[in-house]
Amino acid sequence: MHIDKVREECGVFGMYNQNAQGNYLATQAYVGLMALQHRGQEACGIAVNSDREITFHKDMGLVEEVFDDEILGRFEGQMAVGHCRYSTAGSKKDKEAAQPLVINYAKGQLAIAHNGNIRNMEELRKTYAHEGAIYRTHTDTEIIAYTIARERLNEGSVEKAVSKAMGILKGAYSLVIMSPTKLIAARDPLGMRPLCYGTKADGSVVFASETCALDAVDAKYIREVMPGEIITVQHGNITSNTENCGKTSGSLCIFEYIYFARPDSTIHGQFVNDSRRLSGHLLARVKPVEADIVIGVPDSGIPSAMGYAEESGIPYVEGFGKNRYAGRTFIRPDQMSREAAVRLKLNPLKKYVQGKRVILVDDSMVRGTTNKIIIKMLREAGVKEVHLRMSSPPYKYPCYYGTDVPSTSQLISFDHTVDEVCQITGADSLAFLDINDLKHIIPDVTDTGYCHACFSGEYPI
Ligand code: SF4
Repeated sequence: MHIDKVREECGVFGMYNQNAQGNYLATQAYVGLMALQHRGQEACGIAVNSDREITFHKDMGLVEEVFDDEILGRFEGQMAVGHCRYSTAGSKKDKEAAQPLVINYAKGQLAIAHNGNIRNMEELRKTYAHEGAIYRTHTDTEIIAYTIARERLNEGSVEKAVSKAMGILKGAYSLVIMSPTKLIAARDPLGMRPLCYGTKADGSVVFASETCALDAVDAKYIREVMPGEIITVQHGNITSNTENCGKTSGSLCIFEYIYFARPDSTIHGQFVNDSRRLSGHLLARVKPVEADIVIGVPDSGIPSAMGYAEESGIPYVEGFGKNRYAGRTFIRPDQMSREAAVRLKLNPLKKYVQGKRVILVDDSMVRGTTNKIIIKMLREAGVKEVHLRMSSPPYKYPCYYGTDVPSTSQLISFDHTVDEVCQITGADSLAFLDINDLKHIIPDVTDTGYCHACFSGEYPI
């Protein structure tokens, strides 16, 4: 169960080891996907290449629900691609839409794992349909696969076809692609979704959405896949195609630092937990308030709350007990009120908060409903004052690049002032970080600008 948060769409993972024995790579992909589970919990899959033939297993559910020893034991090979999915394009309950997407075409097979969202999908879908294309899903990943397969007919290699496809596909895409002989990683020219690579002491090459997955398989981080870059691994050699790099300034999703990425990941040299802690420091400097304790909304609000406490000198206190088994539930919204869902997940630690003036730190506010419920729960627990501090700016505009941000009508800050939002949530005071403050929590890297469209309305595409 997610409670009123923006959801990331997917996590991708790929691994190559030409000397791999048995189901080694399938189990490594399993471990990598477990580390990326926060990026998608609806469906997952692993494809493995053995003797130039791709086999796969995918289904709805968490990684540990979809795979077991028996299934992983079936997949022997020297390359693997994995994916965990939360859908934004295509039906959520459609097993066919689970990835990796494996296709058979004139030049053989391809397995594709994709994180992002293609903006010109409908246009391409129509164009290909008029050429006779028949679709199995409504996903943009199928359009990516079709575009690459189509370009491959005129190009000498899959990586060249991927390069050509980059000129056609508009939007956000971090891809890991497996052909019968190559593992390929590619990132859209804007670099909107993260993708990095590393190597293992046993010679394996690993691609992953986040460094936490490299850590999980004991791979050493080498670097980010650059925006527009295509990296190919074949016969143990790594080659890089940069012909689509530097044609445009980058637009990495700034929300990766605020909420999406795991705190123990590093993106473009910046440790994500540091970004969140820094945002708390900033909040304390620019939006101070008198109070007795600082608490954070678990889990993503906690590093910022700690940062706020460090900077302000007001003690940090654990404010909530969290039911870790309520992370995901099949109880539908119509079977359970949002308030009941929040109460199932969080419970104020009454003994610590009772009678206190509390600074409540959270990472972002989408609809505002969860903050309202949490504040109500804190008041029931005897809290004297609640000063709500958000470690990001007001979320005002929908995202079209691979997250599930709802329409503007559901975004509380779209048509309400900060004072109005404060009143609606029932807080004694409310403050957000300013958009100009965000530059202090992210790395200043020359090839990577940032997308902040959900705060600013300035869309990169
Ligand atoms: Fe990320 Fe927001 Fe841009 Fe979407 S609009 S890619 S959530 S920064």
